[in-house]
Amino acid sequence: MSWENNVRKVEPYVAGEQPKRKDIIKLNTNECPYPPAPGVAKKAAEMQCDDLRLYPDMNGEKLVNALADYYQVSPDNLFVGIGSDDVLAMAFLTFFNSDKPILFPDITYSFYDVWANLYRIPYELCPLTEDFRINKEDYLKPNGGIIFPNPNAPTGVLESIELVEEIIKANPDVVVIVDEAYVDFGGQSVVPLIEKYENLLVVQTFSKSRAMAGMRIGFAMGSKKLIDYLKDAKFSFNSYTLNMPTIEMGVEAVEDDKYFKEITGKIIATRERMKKEMAELGFSFTDSKTNFLFATHKEKPAKEIFEAMKEQGIYVRYWNKPRINNHLRITIGTDEQMDRMIAFLKDYLG
Ligand code: PMP
Repeated sequence: MSWENNVRKVEPYVAGEQPKRKDIIKLNTNECPYPPAPGVAKKAAEMQCDDLRLYPDMNGEKLVNALADYYQVSPDNLFVGIGSDDVLAMAFLTFFNSDKPILFPDITYSFYDVWANLYRIPYELCPLTEDFRINKEDYLKPNGGIIFPNPNAPTGVLESIELVEEIIKANPDVVVIVDEAYVDFGGQSVVPLIEKYENLLVVQTFSKSRAMAGMRIGFAMGSKKLIDYLKDAKFSFNSYTLNMPTIEMGVEAVEDDKYFKEITGKIIATRERMKKEMAELGFSFTDSKTNFLFATHKEKPAKEIFEAMKEQGIYVRYWNKPRINNHLRITIGTDEQMDRMIAFLKDYLG
């Protein structure tokens, strides 16, 4: 008997690399290539260090109100956390508390099985179809809860709001979490459905479309009941999650809708141009509605392309996992970054 038998052992999530070198074309973690809204920098410059003496507002009320205003929900329907990873981890702990398995796709955000293992939540993987679509029937069996991203990651595939609603409607006895990390790049949000379904939790993030991954802001929208349960769990860990500068700067990002539309629009335009140019180089991919492409080449193995790109300082994401080990996930960068990537690929692929 060793003390180690009593340790909660987990296999942690492996995030994409954050290289120290600055000359990298970094297309591996779906960050935004453009800076946050100009008001964010302005707010940072104006901030008074003396204010840091005090604890921040527990509820991040200023940010909650700004988000509630933007999404046309009540502040009671909103929960903020340290990136959507924090919000999702809290939601797993709070809502997935059944002996029955929770359900999520076999190819999806690879943090889900980590949290399920960490919290000892039984889970069952629902295989996506050959073309990476959700099979609705998989979500009609008895379960302890449901989670999936829409659009999905790393596939980029967007499911219709009708399909998502059918899954929610068929599961009134469990919490259904829709992870909308990438919804701002051409998806349709199910936020309007939170009024209709008390058991629906929608999670979003500032890390992609609001260009603030380094600030760590995530949020969830749902019925007051769901949000209250989530807050009870959160306040049992740590009462002050978002720090003061984050709350203040987050508000600036939400309030500049023009800039938000401008940068998401630019990323969408670059993505669509890349689909054409990469197809000419022999790549095929899903019809991504996110800020990344999930691509496979007709001849060259993905792993080889990944390594060759890395050698050139172009970082993309590759997983040596069943079903996706011949795919690359390529974040959409600036036009200039993408042109440099295309120039390299043209040369490399001959
Ligand atoms: N959900 C999905 C599907 C993601 O791809 C990511 C990004 N890694 C997250 C949630 C978490 O993002 P963040 O914690 O930066 O909000």
